[in-house]
Amino acid sequence: MITHLPASIRVGPARYTLERNIEPDSAGRIAETIHYQRIIRISTGCPPNVLATTALHELLHAIWEHYGLTGFSDAAGAERVVDALASGLAQVLQDLGVWPEELRLAGET
Ligand SMILES: [Zn+2]
Repeated sequence: MITHLPASIRVGPARYTLERNIEPDSAGRIAETIHYQRIIRISTGCPPNVLATTALHELLHAIWEHYGLTGFSDAAGAERVVDALASGLAQVLQDLGVWPEELRLAGET
């Protein structure tokens, strides 16, 4: 089982770099995916147990972008779908023992 995410992850034709360099914003977001820069930024305050679900959430945003779901829903609807799928996937994959309860980015201890 993985314990660390790699420094970059391919999603369809795009390769996203994972960075750990933002703090939660005023809306409480702890991560963001910037498609045009191919960057997933995760707050330094996001602990390993939250990162396990947050990483899936941000990767689902990238999948949404590159696998034909852009325009399928407004932003609020897309956020709700991505959030539900990330939480559900994390639970199912963790119960199956194929996704960690705690996760770290490359190079983190
Ligand atoms: Zn989101």
